[in-house]
Amino acid sequence: MPSEALHSAGTIAFVAYRIGLTGGIGSGKNAAAEIFASLGAEVIDTDAVARSLTWRGGAALGAIAAQFGPGALAPDGSLDMARMRSRVFSDAQAARRFEAIVQPLVKEACLRRARESRAVYVVLIVPLLREAGRKALGVDRVARVECPAEVRVARIVRRSGLREAEVRRIVAAQAGNEARLARADDSIDNAGELETLRVRVEALHREYLLLARPA
Ligand code: ATP
Repeated sequence: MPSEALHSAGTIAFVAYRIGLTGGIGSGKNAAAEIFASLGAEVIDTDAVARSLTWRGGAALGAIAAQFGPGALAPDGSLDMARMRSRVFSDAQAARRFEAIVQPLVKEACLRRARESRAVYVVLIVPLLREAGRKALGVDRVARVECPAEVRVARIVRRSGLREAEVRRIVAAQAGNEARLARADDSIDNAGELETLRVRVEALHREYLLLARPA
């Protein structure tokens, strides 16, 4: 499916071909996305979109305050992230209610960006893309960045300055989630040098141009 017609407010808008870029923590999603962007793709970081919805004035705040009470907001009017995190951590139903507010807004914001983009295709960075997320975002194709845990640990330690044992724990804790990722159409090996990553991303870019604009 090269691009999709969406009926909104009586008009038909064409949404660019969408690639879901996923992979475990520290696998190199951002590094790969930067290369896609340098080649002309529109890159949308879905985590950043979600965060922007809960900053002061963000579109999710009204519904969150209505559901969880005004105490869910910090004095500056943004979401009290620490409080909400501890709430949803200990209450699965609250977590579901929170997701039910934020997810549709993330989807809407991403689709708006995809609709407004002049790029031939859009890369949506979704750290843990499941089948449900793939469907919700109308992702046409999934690319997964692969990198062995040992290499990821070393790179995250270098990036964050956290202790190795702690990073090892974080990576291990994510392993179960990674096992539930949506099936990938394309695999991007990032165990090697950045130059090798670039070569692979350039090859995928050529494929995506053809898929997005079939002859
Ligand atoms: P997160 O899940 O935490 O958002 P990510 O999957 O987006 O991470 P990156 O931030 O792209 O991963 O990469 C993790 C770290 O490894 C970064 O500091 C990045 O600069 C570095 N890195 C990524 N790929 C390579 C590579 N091929 N060679 C060397 N360093 C790399």
